[in-house]
Amino acid sequence: MQPSAYITEVFTSIQGEGPNLGRCHRFVRLETCDADCAYCDTPDSLVKNPTCRVEHEPFRATFDEISNPVEADALGAALARLNRSDVLCDGLVLTGGEPLMQADFIAHCGRNGLLEPTPVILETDGNLPGPLQKVMDFVDVVAIDIKIPSATGERAKFDVNREFLMIAAHKGCYVKVVYGAHTPPEEIAIAAQLVAAVRSDIPFVLQPVIPARNATEAPLPRLALDLHATARKILPDVRVIPQAHRHLELP
Ligand code: SF4
Repeated sequence: MQPSAYITEVFTSIQGEGPNLGRCHRFVRLETCDADCAYCDTPDSLVKNPTCRVEHEPFRATFDEISNPVEADALGAALARLNRSDVLCDGLVLTGGEPLMQADFIAHCGRNGLLEPTPVILETDGNLPGPLQKVMDFVDVVAIDIKIPSATGERAKFDVNREFLMIAAHKGCYVKVVYGAHTPPEEIAIAAQLVAAVRSDIPFVLQPVIPARNATEAPLPRLALDLHATARKILPDVRVIPQAHRHLELP
């Protein structure tokens, strides 16, 4: 029996955050997560759903529904069909939820050449170093969220994040930190020092939280300048990049 995975949706979109903002990407949103961030804007992907939405044609907002869990070959066929369209993509994003909750499935798809187009970009919360090892041969870029308590409402896992980053740094990678209205500079400094201790040329993105779920307050613009100044004293490549999703949603 071939591996299968719980997937929320397969779709094409303009990347709305991080250093690749503005590029056209194919997205596979995998389900379940080991975190519970106050600002999570994908609550549907935190649980196992009975069906998965697969885009019928890029940017047409029409979807087919297939049963979960989705077999690897079915995902491969869906991606291959979308890749034959005339909407050219700059990569495949594995997102979630936390995609590494289903690392064996990702590794199987990679081993069998099902993950197209390339580069394959893994978006992850940086908490699961063991599962990351399983997929390292099959991803090109690891995009790591370092979670800070003032934004997530959860406890920090900086030691695990450091272990994770040491593995991810063997590939292309960047780090993103979502900050909240009351994030202290000290927390950003800890995250930046963690990155600097592994590889100082890793891009470090500060992203202001957009209120969702239990995160109800947006940070003031002034805070972006203060947090950037803090991180920039520690790392050479620091950028403040707000999410652009709101401007890119289909009607
Ligand atoms: S890691 Fe991502 S998917 Fe999981 S709870 Fe946090 S924001 Fe949501």
